[in-house]
Amino acid sequence: MKNIIILFGPPGIGKGTIGKILAERLKMPLISTGDLLRDNVKRSTPIGNKAEEFMRKGELVPDSIVFEALSERVKQDDASRGFIMDGFPRNLSQAEMFDRVIDEDSNIVLLNLIAQDSVLIERLSLRRICKNCGAIYHLKNIPPKKNGVCDICGGELIQREDDKPEVISRRLEVFRNETSPLVNYYQGKHRVYTICVEDNLDNIVNRIEGLKLWE
Ligand code: AMP
Repeated sequence: MKNIIILFGPPGIGKGTIGKILAERLKMPLISTGDLLRDNVKRSTPIGNKAEEFMRKGELVPDSIVFEALSERVKQDDASRGFIMDGFPRNLSQAEMFDRVIDEDSNIVLLNLIAQDSVLIERLSLRRICKNCGAIYHLKNIPPKKNGVCDICGGELIQREDDKPEVISRRLEVFRNETSPLVNYYQGKHRVYTICVEDNLDNIVNRIEGLKLWE
């Protein structure tokens, strides 16, 4: 049986940051479609070349391209007992497709992360990522030890193209219109927990662990 956690919530809510900590504590791999796509863009693969334009504008990448990137990843050995999903599914057709491809006895839990828009905008505009290893920083809450340099690998910290103000508002709109209705879809089928993330990271992760997801 596979245990699958879907980290669900708008851009900037902290899915990547929370996901990395949960992945370590629960010993499950974190699979982020955004990271998979960004990696393809960086390597100029056919998937990356097709996805790049959509990502730059803050639009959803067409489902077929996302599936291509994702299906390879979930087949890898480390995902055989389960995984944590960040950034997928993003619309109803992705959710339906996912339900069709996963094993029937999979145990799916959706963690619905919520916060006010002002918190998201602040988090997105102050977010920096390592160009090399993808580590995530926040200039105020999780600053690097040395300005502009990744603590983990020494790589250069950059602002994601789609964290610029004009793209942020489009991404939030896409979330509201296309992604947020998925909570209703999951509520009827799988377990859903809503968690307000306007708190410090330790408390959030402790609260999630306290849910005892697999008992
Ligand atoms: P994220 O890192 O999750 O914020 O994703 C960054 C961008 O990658 C999004 O704005 C989309 O353009 C694209 N993307 C990531 N995941 C998906 C998905 N499941 N479906 C469509 N586009 C996606």
